Amino acid sequence: MSSLRITEIFHSLQGEARTVGLPTAFVRLTGCPLRCQYCDTEYAFHGGEKMSIDAIIDAVKARKTPFVTVTGGEPLAQPECRSLLTRLCDEGYAVSLETSGAMDITGIDARVSVVLDLKTPGSGEVSRNLFENIPRLKQDDQVKFVICHRGDYEWARFKMQELQLAKKVDEILFSASHGELESRELADWILEDELPVRLQVQLHKLLWGDTPGV
Ligand code: SF4
Repeated sequence: MSSLRITEIFHSLQGEARTVGLPTAFVRLTGCPLRCQYCDTEYAFHGGEKMSIDAIIDAVKARKTPFVTVTGGEPLAQPECRSLLTRLCDEGYAVSLETSGAMDITGIDARVSVVLDLKTPGSGEVSRNLFENIPRLKQDDQVKFVICHRGDYEWARFKMQELQLAKKVDEILFSASHGELESRELADWILEDELPVRLQVQLHKLLWGDTPGV
């Protein structure tokens, strides 16, 4: 029977991306091959509990929301993640996947909205970006940049143009790295350059700080 290692399944408000603010069931898979310097989910690197896909679906159903986000860690580090995504779609959920940009997104169910986090130089993991993923994105997927400083902003602005991201996906998300850059400053840069991106503030951090599982 297919199983995955799960750190937590919980119900919260979506903190980021297109469905921000909507009550959502989160399935956090254990493990990540990256080590971003700003990571706030280090508790998901190890441990977790093996769960069958059926048991995961039952736990999601208990949350009573049509929105499910599969996250990590890096969910695609577990091959069975694709089966879980398809099963969630088959069950009628609106499913999004948060992935680091370092893993191949080939073969993900087309009904899943992918949020691809391209790693900036400030993350310390820029060399892990798999740019082969860019042509694999669908129009309704989203590309996210976590910006740590002005150099990251300029890198992201350059990559947007070089990769023609605004033509490939409907939404590009810029987020200030918590504790490193003020969202207000990032907002000013975006407006000065008239960039076609959505500034996102980390709703979870505003509401609950660094508390895990909310
Ligand atoms: S990819 Fe995500 S989970 Fe992995 S180290 Fe970076 S921020 Fe943390």
